[in-house]
Amino acid sequence: MGTAKELKEWIAQSKNVVFFGGAGVSTESGIPDFRSSDGLYNQKYAYPPETIVSHDFFLEHTAEFYRFYRDRMLFPAARPNAAHLALARLEREGKLSAVVTQNIDGLHQAAGSKRVYELHGSVHRNRCMRCGKRYPLAYILESEGVPRCGCGGIVKPDVVLYGEPLDDETVQGAVNAIARADMLIVGGTSLAVYPAAGFLDFFRGSRLAVVNKTPTPADGRAGLVINAPIGEVFAGI
Ligand code: NAD
Repeated sequence: MGTAKELKEWIAQSKNVVFFGGAGVSTESGIPDFRSSDGLYNQKYAYPPETIVSHDFFLEHTAEFYRFYRDRMLFPAARPNAAHLALARLEREGKLSAVVTQNIDGLHQAAGSKRVYELHGSVHRNRCMRCGKRYPLAYILESEGVPRCGCGGIVKPDVVLYGEPLDDETVQGAVNAIARADMLIVGGTSLAVYPAAGFLDFFRGSRLAVVNKTPTPADGRAGLVINAPIGEVFAGI
C-alpha cells in the first residue's frame, strides 16, 4: 500500500495536479456518504435513497423528498477537514489547477478552493421552478414542508438528481482540467456513479493516485493506492 509520504513526493514532482473526489472526502467532516456500511444506502427509509433523490420522486412526492433531504443531506454545521484544507493550499501554491467533485456540500469552497467543478450541483444554490428566483441554503433550512417562492412556485435545490443531466459547462471544465493534468488524485469515491466516474478516462498524465478507504475500479490503473482515511492522509502532505 502507498503512503502519504509517497503522495507528497508525487505532488512535488508534478506541475498540474487535479483532484477528483466524492462523498468520502466529507465523511471526516461528519457528512455520511452513500455506500459505506454506515452510509445512507444502508439505513432504512420508506423508499431507497436513490429513489428519493431522483427527478421523478421530487416531482411526485416533493414533501417526502424534502423531509429526507433536510434530515439526511443538509449539514450546515459541517466544517472542512484536513483534506479540503490541503487541497485549497495546493491550489494557492500553484500546484493544483482544479477540484472536480461529486459532492454537493460546498466544503471545498469553504476551505478556500477557487476552481471547483461541482458535477452534481450544490445545496447552497436553490431556484424557483416557476420564476427562477434564487435562494440560499438558509431559506430551505428555515422553511417547513415544501419551500415556496413568493410567486408560489416550488423552490428546487440546484442538485443533480438521478434522472437529470449534468450541467454542460461544468462537465466541459472538469473534463478539460483532467485532460490537461499531469497528476490526478482520486479520493473518497466508490466510482459507482456515472457519467461522473467515466471522466477519469480523459486523464492522459502519468501519475494516477487513489486515496480511498475501500478498493475502487481505478486501483488497477493507479501507480499509487492508499487505503486510509483521506483527511489523515492529506494531513501528512
Ligand atoms: P459513495 O458513497 O458511493 O462512496 C464513498 C467512498 O468513499 C467509498 O468507497 C468509501 O469507502 C470511501 N470513503 C468514505 N469515507 C472515507 C474517508 N474518510 N477517506 C477515504 N475514503 C472514504 O460516494 P460517491 O462516489 O461520491 O457517490 C455518491 C453520490 O452521492 C455522489 O454523486 C454525491 O453527489 C452524493 N453525495 C454527496 C455527499 C456530499 O456532498 N458530502 C454526501 C453523500 C452523497
